[in-house]
Amino acid sequence: MAPKIPIRMYLAEDEMPQSWYNLKAVMKEKPDPILHPGTLQPVTHADMEPVFCKETVKQELDDTNPLVPIPDGIREFYRAYRPSPLVRAYFLEKELGTPAEIYYKFEGTNTSGSHKLNSAGAQAYYAQEEGLTSLATETGAGQWGTAMAMACAFYGLKLTVYMVKVSSEQKPYRKALMEAYGAGVIPSPSNTTESGRKILEGDPNTGGSLGCAISEAIETAVKTEKCRYVLGSVLNHVLLHQTVIGLEAKLMMDKYGIKPDIVIGCAGGGSNLGGLIAPFMGDKIAGKLNSRFIAVEPASCPSFTRGRYAYDFGDTAKTTPLMRMQTLGNGFIPSSNHAGGLRYHGMSSILSKLYHDGLIEARAEVQTDVFDAALRFMKTEGILPAPESSHAIKAAIDEAIECKRTGEKKVILFGLSGTGYFDMTAYMAYNNKTMSDYIPTDADLQKGFASIPDIPQNG
Ligand SMILES: *Cc1c(COP(=O)(O)O)cnc(C)c1O
Repeated sequence: MAPKIPIRMYLAEDEMPQSWYNLKAVMKEKPDPILHPGTLQPVTHADMEPVFCKETVKQELDDTNPLVPIPDGIREFYRAYRPSPLVRAYFLEKELGTPAEIYYKFEGTNTSGSHKLNSAGAQAYYAQEEGLTSLATETGAGQWGTAMAMACAFYGLKLTVYMVKVSSEQKPYRKALMEAYGAGVIPSPSNTTESGRKILEGDPNTGGSLGCAISEAIETAVKTEKCRYVLGSVLNHVLLHQTVIGLEAKLMMDKYGIKPDIVIGCAGGGSNLGGLIAPFMGDKIAGKLNSRFIAVEPASCPSFTRGRYAYDFGDTAKTTPLMRMQTLGNGFIPSSNHAGGLRYHGMSSILSKLYHDGLIEARAEVQTDVFDAALRFMKTEGILPAPESSHAIKAAIDEAIECKRTGEKKVILFGLSGTGYFDMTAYMAYNNKTMSDYIPTDADLQKGFASIPDIPQNG
């Protein structure tokens, strides 16, 4: 008889993955190479090393090694809050009356409140090993900045965080928490950088955007001695670090003989989704598993479902290398009424390629529906979900309801990427019904598309 599945599944510390899983290495068709914006040739290690830590550049450009060992110094950091639990959502299943089995991998058990700490710890470790003394980064909703602040405190590095101005106003406690961990937090756009000043000249009242905060952080990193830039999503090495999520989930599911029919995650830049699906996608590519994979994004920032598959910059100031990805254009700024996170214009080039090749599906949801799902989840499962994660909850609930209609007993796994304790402004807007949905018109999107570079590769 199969063992009864407990509500919470754990691993012992020594069962934690020894290596990350490099999905790019097992993809039969690789994502197109990252291009140097000046020469339009594939970037080299030397091109990227002035901006990023050496080891992460190596990981970024690694198309060949399927397993990348996790250094002991990072495993030690992970031990402070991992392995994270895999939870069977018995209570939600019961409330929905579904024959489906629903599981979620919960990444919100650390103080920063999300999966981002998995890459923050790795990136801070490599910076310290390389002899750097400080790091610069941006943060949108604040989770990445908090994760980096925790990691830099642990590894003894200084940190400057450019925080998107609207978020720093909506989430003063996030700022306070980063400062408590020792980080310097600057609302962006700011007058501390050239790119910030330029953006402010153009639009003094702008609430900022992630793309703009990225420009400020990169500028600071390259102009400061022994400083590098770190990014919390989108890039291949970030996805790599996040595969610890999927690897743990798979180890736990294997223990109980469970195979997911559907794997679901929310997608901003794609790191938690990419990390969750990586080992399952590897099995699918190898013909060993026949799961569906679903990316869920906000209808107000629909880079998968309405974006273009094109080479684009990662930032508004057009300073980053060019990546071929699903993008709304580097000049796209989502509507300011959007409270649900996942505001980035682009998407991981790995996930974009998988989407382009039909290996993952995507859907877009409006934020009031996402919060409906969040409340349904928290009232049964007890956990206050991050608005971002609630996009995945919405799709998991819809799939479970579909199973009820068809009578199928599918196994659904979704990523609960974080908690929503710092998102109470958004929950308040939902509670007092001031939250509204905004879906960009084709004309709105056209403005963003116009910022996609006009290069031969996009022709
Ligand atoms: C940042 C964040 C996301 C979106 O980023 P991805 O790189 O797409 O994972 C999702 N959920 C939470 C809780 C986050 O903090």
